[in-house]
Amino acid sequence: MFLRHLAPSTANPGRVARQAVLSAALVLASSAGFGPSSASAQDSLTIGTGSEAGVYYQVGRALCYLAERDEALKDAGCKALSTAGSIFNLKNLRSGALQLGVAQSDWHFHAVRGSGPFADAGPDGDLRALFSVHGEPFTVVARRDAGITKLQDLAGKRVNIGNPGSGQRATMETVMAALGWDRSAFSLADELPAAQQSLALCHDRVQAMIYTVGHPNASVGQAAGLCDAVMVEVGGAAIDKLIAENPFYAATEIPGGIYAGNPEPVKTFGVKATLVTTASLDEGLAYAIVRSVLGDLRRFRKMHPAFGALSAERMVADGLSAPLHPGALRYFREAGLLTEGG
Ligand code: GLU
Repeated sequence: MFLRHLAPSTANPGRVARQAVLSAALVLASSAGFGPSSASAQDSLTIGTGSEAGVYYQVGRALCYLAERDEALKDAGCKALSTAGSIFNLKNLRSGALQLGVAQSDWHFHAVRGSGPFADAGPDGDLRALFSVHGEPFTVVARRDAGITKLQDLAGKRVNIGNPGSGQRATMETVMAALGWDRSAFSLADELPAAQQSLALCHDRVQAMIYTVGHPNASVGQAAGLCDAVMVEVGGAAIDKLIAENPFYAATEIPGGIYAGNPEPVKTFGVKATLVTTASLDEGLAYAIVRSVLGDLRRFRKMHPAFGALSAERMVADGLSAPLHPGALRYFREAGLLTEGG
């Protein structure tokens, strides 16, 4: 909806066929919540993103658009794959099924440490950071008739807590634990993917939905535009404690005036979207990927309104827990964004 001038995202026919097979495997894996261990596409750039209703998918499309115009990348084949989201992407990077993925900074951190959903798998020593992208406020959207004006009002309500494998679902579980809630806190805890949640809200199947996502985005825009939904404030002692205790959370706001019927900013907390890869990605490819975006940041910023405020200095510094990939490090040093010691 926001990208108007995109060429098809894959130019090389041989790779199209291989990627179609990989995509089918990943889509199946996505719906099952597991990553395939046998799929491999070492020779192509498949970026695990999120729902087509979110912003990660637009990150992937914008990256492929720029990559296909880069001499070093134009034959590599680049595909933005719609997936369940952050947790799915991090698991499939580890298994080798994805070369690149977008992931929330909280789950990026936990993958590196081997904590939270990655406790069984242990620390991912091969995860590498390329750069961070837009901020993602933890967003609670409610029907105006539901009487939900703050996070705590979700108790006893019908709530879409997010699809398994998504970052928003995992962050919602963190929030629920902080509040001392489990699923029985809600009269219904639905697990719809982002692409379905707005209509479920409009049809009154759920009274509220959760999304950790950049703004503006199509999903929240649909809820606000089609059924007059409202942004809900997220705060209180439990949230203050989460922010104080976790380096990847920060207080933030959803700006006012970007969605119909929501003129005022709304306070919440948030994370960053980050682009990650693995140590096995070729150094030259990683360098060229970073150059294709950071070297043409003015154009990248125009490709989606959620990218409008990006700055190279922040993209190098914010939300990155994994070591920088050597290709990214080389680009940042050459561009003067990092010093030799940095
Ligand atoms: N933050 C969400 C996730 O990690 C995805 C948001 C988006 O698609 O923009 O799954």
